[in-house]
Amino acid sequence: MSKYWSPIVSTLKPYVPGEQPRMANLVKLNTNENPYPPSEKALEAIRAAASADLRLYPDPVALGLRKAIASRYGIGAEQVFVGNGSDEVLAHTFAALLKHDRPLLYPDISYSFYPTYAGLFGIDAIEVPLNSAFRIDIADYRRTCGAIILPNPNAPTGIGLPLAEIERLVAEHPDQPVVIDEAYVDFGGESAMALVPKYDNLLVVQTFSKSRALAGLRVGFAIGQRPLIAALERVKDSFNSYPLGRTAQAGATAAIADEAWFEATRGKIIASRVRLTADLETRGFEVLPSQANFVFARHPAHSGEKLAAQLRERAVIVRHFAKPRISDFLRITIGTDAECASLIGALDDIL
Ligand code: PMP
Repeated sequence: MSKYWSPIVSTLKPYVPGEQPRMANLVKLNTNENPYPPSEKALEAIRAAASADLRLYPDPVALGLRKAIASRYGIGAEQVFVGNGSDEVLAHTFAALLKHDRPLLYPDISYSFYPTYAGLFGIDAIEVPLNSAFRIDIADYRRTCGAIILPNPNAPTGIGLPLAEIERLVAEHPDQPVVIDEAYVDFGGESAMALVPKYDNLLVVQTFSKSRALAGLRVGFAIGQRPLIAALERVKDSFNSYPLGRTAQAGATAAIADEAWFEATRGKIIASRVRLTADLETRGFEVLPSQANFVFARHPAHSGEKLAAQLRERAVIVRHFAKPRISDFLRITIGTDAECASLIGALDDIL
């Protein structure tokens, strides 16, 4: 706190990103990164873009990248908005779309950036509790609201909603924007992208950070009909008209076109998730059914906080949330098979 701070800055509750420790030989399973290197084609494109042309501003509307995303999903480039990670796309969404006179709904438990953005933009929010099976029940969202946002699959539970339920939610709120945050959808969830032509209140947000292994490049995007996308563009151009640098635009454009890399990599992660789930269950863990690149698991005889600390002593870092209802759980990112084996070895030592 400083006398130079505005009253608003004093009230902000910033998001705390997952730790990025720099230790050698660490098994880092705490921030849901992809354990495999990105597409070689993406890396080549980034290297090529790292040239003398960096003296020039990038394309402010990232048309090449938007066209590449649009062509992958069979829509028009004017329905695609890109930003510096889906966090920035979500920030612009909060700024652009949310009505200030009626509350925003999002699940409790969910992505902890939502309350941060709601605070930043002064938006009233109602946190809708998950049901007793840690699932989102869309019947709980039948109430007066200004907008709805939810991740599908949800984080940190990993549980996905079927497309039919997402469609019911979108159809039941024709006057409100419904934002589906699909950061993890490529690991087995059902995307709502196909509903975009049918519903003008739907915005689908995705990222290159997880299934494309480009968290360090910072590229995310939203897909929706023109009025929603135009709102995001207005916010972007009032904030930073060059959100994506030349290397990010080039790398992401090449990455979205590398279907062979994408299919092979997500297939490996899904297969590892199945094996890791079985290995944890064998050791007495309850593992929520995940459609993401992480699992959420608890052990009836061991506290989550203590297990996380004991794993850390063995150089394995997982995520523990001190929040009430989920404090018994560990969120474990799916690593390479060697990393999953190190985790299981450490657990065998502890349990
Ligand atoms: N949404 C959810 C649900 C997430 O877990 C994350 C990653 N922490 C993001 C969005 C943001 O990812 P990025 O900014 O890297 O695209």
